[in-house]
Amino acid sequence: MTFVDGLRCRECGRAYPAEALHVCDFCFGPLEVAYDYDAVAAVITRERIEAGPRSIWRYADLLPVADAAPVDLGAGFTPLVRADRLAAELGLGELWIKDDTANPTGSFKDRVVSVALTKARQLGFKVAACASTGNLANSVAAHAARAGMESVVLIPSNLESAKIVMTAVYGGRVVAVDGTYDDVNRLCAELTSERPGWAFANVNIRTYYAEGSKTLAFEVAEQLGWRAPDHVVVPIGSGSQLTKVAKGFGELRRVGLLHDTHTVRISGAQATGCAPVATAFAEGADVIRPVKPDTIAKSLAIGNPADGWYALDVIRSSGGSCAAVTDDEIRAGIGLLARTEGIFAETAGGVTIATLAKLAASGAIRPDERVVALVTGHGLKTAEALAGTVAPTVTIAPTLEAFNAAGILDETVAGPPS
Ligand SMILES: *Cc1c(COP(=O)(O)O)cnc(C)c1O
Ligand SMILES: [Zn+2]
Repeated sequence: MTFVDGLRCRECGRAYPAEALHVCDFCFGPLEVAYDYDAVAAVITRERIEAGPRSIWRYADLLPVADAAPVDLGAGFTPLVRADRLAAELGLGELWIKDDTANPTGSFKDRVVSVALTKARQLGFKVAACASTGNLANSVAAHAARAGMESVVLIPSNLESAKIVMTAVYGGRVVAVDGTYDDVNRLCAELTSERPGWAFANVNIRTYYAEGSKTLAFEVAEQLGWRAPDHVVVPIGSGSQLTKVAKGFGELRRVGLLHDTHTVRISGAQATGCAPVATAFAEGADVIRPVKPDTIAKSLAIGNPADGWYALDVIRSSGGSCAAVTDDEIRAGIGLLARTEGIFAETAGGVTIATLAKLAASGAIRPDERVVALVTGHGLKTAEALAGTVAPTVTIAPTLEAFNAAGILDETVAGPPS
């Protein structure tokens, strides 16, 4: 059983049944899942959650679908890692990394897809589809395979090769489109009316899909001992994840699971090559102007973000900030996280870490705050972005002489253990 009241238009508040609907017939506003929070509060406890599975499904009371056997590869419950060495480099105090590289297909998209396909299967869909910048394609193809559903994923043809391999290997249909993600997404919107039997994770099922991102907030709070952080840094593609992380903290507060009640400041991270939200934030604008993306952070390369305005609103109303970083800063961010904490992130993670560094330097993120940075995808997915910037320290002949001549480590650092 779920605690879903139905769907509600985010703009005009009109109510709809919990079906495969995503826009309001009256004002074209996006629909959102509404819950009966009083009923949730009456049953939910920290103990009930802690006794649940070590996956996103331990938070089923606050998800839009309940199923004894969800479409599940084990998404969620990823490590929250205290990052003291990174914090010291950035001049911060208590810093944590939410390491979503540890998800089944290597990105946070497994959270949203597990929810979306579980709902799609319940609604009777047999085909899972999506428009993707890469990670969603990986996750839809994998979860569809697990569920025995057909999958059709549409991707821009210039994606990283690892993301294409990681999609095609699961045996679904992969359609590479010569165009940007925004072109692919527009095509999918058209296909949704042509192919009513297909569940497009980020179109007609998007309302449910989006809810999966709340589990990032749920896990962070649980892993901090049912306390909310002061500040969270979230990468922005469509902006959905950022808005749902805020919704997640709000829901925990609403149903009484948090020991503290402060608002969480939410800051957004983008690449300068695709920064419609960061630009609007910097200009104090009320509209998001679409851009044509050109960045190595392909998983965030959405020039016309569906939830961009809502993300901007969350950032402003929570007292957060938003910034953008260059491709070189993204590579440096990947290297910094790997070198200080041993976590290898994809380019989107580089965006998060580089933006964290920028906001720490400007004072927008302070050393007295408990900060969480969301690292949302694994570095092997975008290894080619580092081509030419990482290499063997030295290449030598297989002799002791050659090794010693190379001067690999200073003996004062690398003497015998004492
Ligand atoms: C999709 C994606 C994001 C952005 O999520 P949105 O909800 O589209 O803003 C961030 N990081 C990674 C690794 C992604 O794949
Ligand atoms: Zn409406």
